[in-house]
Amino acid sequence: MSVSVALQTISKTRTVAFVGNPNTGKSTLFNALTGFRQRVANYPGTTVERRCGLLRARTDVELVDLPGAYSLAARGADEAIVMDALLGKSGQRKPDLIVSVVDAANLGRNLFLTTQLLELGIPLVVALNMMDLAEAFGVRIDPAALSAELGVPVTPVVAIKQVGIEALTQAIDEAVDQPCSHHCASFPDCVCAELDGLCSTLSSGACEGVFPSRIEAMQTLLDPGGYHESRLVQRCGKGLAEELTERRRRIASAGESLVEIEARVRYAWIDRVLQNVVTHSTHPRRSRTELADRVLTHPVLGLIVLLILMGACFQSVYAWAAPVMDFIDGSVAAIGQWLTRWLPDGALESLAVNGVVAGVGAVVIFLPQILVLFLFIAILEDCGYMARAAFLLDRWMRLFGLNGKSFIPLLSSFACAVPGILSTRTIEDRRDRFVTILIAPLMSCSARLPVYVLMIGAFVPAVPLLGGLIGLQAATLLAMYFVGAAVAIPVAWLLKKTVLKGPGQSFLLELPSFKWPTPRVVFFRVYEQGRAFCTSAGTMIFAVAIVIWALGYYPHPASIAADHEAMRMAARGAQLAEDALTERLASINQQEAGAYLRQSLLGRMGLAIEPLVEPLGWDWRIGTAAIASFPAREVVVATLGTIYNLGSDLDENSAGLRATLQAATWPDGRPVFNLAVALSLMVFFALCCQCGATLATIRRETGSWSWPVLTFVYMTGLAYVGALATYRLAIPWV
Ligand code: GDP
Repeated sequence: MSVSVALQTISKTRTVAFVGNPNTGKSTLFNALTGFRQRVANYPGTTVERRCGLLRARTDVELVDLPGAYSLAARGADEAIVMDALLGKSGQRKPDLIVSVVDAANLGRNLFLTTQLLELGIPLVVALNMMDLAEAFGVRIDPAALSAELGVPVTPVVAIKQVGIEALTQAIDEAVDQPCSHHCASFPDCVCAELDGLCSTLSSGACEGVFPSRIEAMQTLLDPGGYHESRLVQRCGKGLAEELTERRRRIASAGESLVEIEARVRYAWIDRVLQNVVTHSTHPRRSRTELADRVLTHPVLGLIVLLILMGACFQSVYAWAAPVMDFIDGSVAAIGQWLTRWLPDGALESLAVNGVVAGVGAVVIFLPQILVLFLFIAILEDCGYMARAAFLLDRWMRLFGLNGKSFIPLLSSFACAVPGILSTRTIEDRRDRFVTILIAPLMSCSARLPVYVLMIGAFVPAVPLLGGLIGLQAATLLAMYFVGAAVAIPVAWLLKKTVLKGPGQSFLLELPSFKWPTPRVVFFRVYEQGRAFCTSAGTMIFAVAIVIWALGYYPHPASIAADHEAMRMAARGAQLAEDALTERLASINQQEAGAYLRQSLLGRMGLAIEPLVEPLGWDWRIGTAAIASFPAREVVVATLGTIYNLGSDLDENSAGLRATLQAATWPDGRPVFNLAVALSLMVFFALCCQCGATLATIRRETGSWSWPVLTFVYMTGLAYVGALATYRLAIPWV
């Protein structure tokens, strides 16, 4: 193909954007219309995936599947991406046509966004999806009447069953080149005057060439300091910000905020339209949904159901994942042993076994728990329950400055903070989103479990409590899980009062219809989360694990090897029985590993910080283990093993490690570990942010290093104070 023909083909390609509320079936419809002809890339400057594909049987119509949005105000990260795409920003092509995907079973609420889209001046087709659900709820919709009211083509579809796809393809094909003249909401005169005034400012003087539509002018006035205002102030200068404040003040003086006026006008228009378009029949399924909603969103009954579901979820995370985790653990150990046998002794062997294999193992071991948790979340989300949980918890979360949408990210953080932080993208309000990101690492993730298991097994007596209902060990474990969540409450409150101060914002939350979860959708959500964990957290854990390995390995003086070789020779010459000799040689090997670690850079760091950790009841060896666990907390178990002369091939259930920790002493003979030290160590790990992957994810999601630094500093401070207080309080009881 010659260059000029290729250019012609590119310039002729039409872009069609799929826009709609979350969970309206955009992706399902997109897949049905494109088949496998899809490309995946990232939206400019973000880590959100952008999927595009060619319309079936066409090479000149490209479809783009945008994230879910409730409005064009662009309050959340996802909505900003949608707005960027619709305005053709960041090097993207402005769409030639919008397909507004609406859920027919929730038509009224879904049309809110459609009325805004109609005002953008871009040709539009409405895809009336989930017609099967609407029918099941006794909602009858007349698409022709709706089309006449909206002034754009309306095509009924059932994306999941591929019904109506042909008609939609044809509607897209026909509408893509048509000029458009769409409806515009009629706002009160005082609002119109301000909108017109703003539009004329934005097409003259310093703003010349900006030309935003009336709907953009509206959204700019509506959200002080938001997406639209920052964009326009950047172009036109600070004077515009002052003008906006003045115009807002004049609108507010009429007694109603612009947000309220917009909702009132649009919903009044939608109600009028729907009277001519929709008929309802009482239907058993609708009343069943209403009954279920009455229970699930009830302040008391709803909370009970939520607690039962969460209990079942956590139980399964541990019960189902445990055998797979054991298997992975065994496999990683076997690979390490195999490599030890085949590689010559030295730095290469240590790098491969203790750096690479242990690093990969540290990542993969958490995958089963993460996948099980996300399986639960995906099922509950797809059947429509999670939106109810967010609604239910909203009033509680508001007490300390969050909103209901923080619930899913915080819940996910109990498996791992990385996917938890990634899922905050659905939170529209930037401040609420940042507070959620900053407290997510306080939730007790699965990486803390090995530390708890080791310490509790070794130092907490197995005595029954509450008449045998629960053991002291289990109660301690539960307390450790609560510590982080309980501390998160005042921290969130404080952040909302200081660095993330600002007015509370109401949020719009769709309660989607209940339905059976679709296995394919569930599978892909779980797969996506697993992949996100392996790529973002995995690479980071792996990289830092290797750095820590190097710090723990170098310098590696030959004199230590020579001394221990001499000890081995002496043991062999001492005519010991075979068993005793094996034991003696193993003990010399362990001592050698400990000697290397003590004089390594890592060991020296531990000695340097001993004065700092002594008030917590720790010796330099525990301090070293805490530094070594920076990439991933669970590393502390292996490091304690090495440093207490046992070699690093240990896990938290190792009786040898427990016994050694129990026997470890200070130079004056006092035991290092006791219940108070164990509790102080556990509280430290419950509150600290020893996780490189989490910090890297916070950096990526907030776009600045200051937030991960703040997170690390405040959590380390909290962990230190918490550990100190625990030690001081517990020591009189020991
Ligand atoms: P998106 O968030 O808008 O991209 O929505 P998805 O495409 O992920 O769909 C959300 C859920 O709705 C999935 O479980 C789909 O299987 C389901 N779904 C999509 N279209 C239909 C439909 O026409 N009828 C029914 N009953 N379910 C649908």
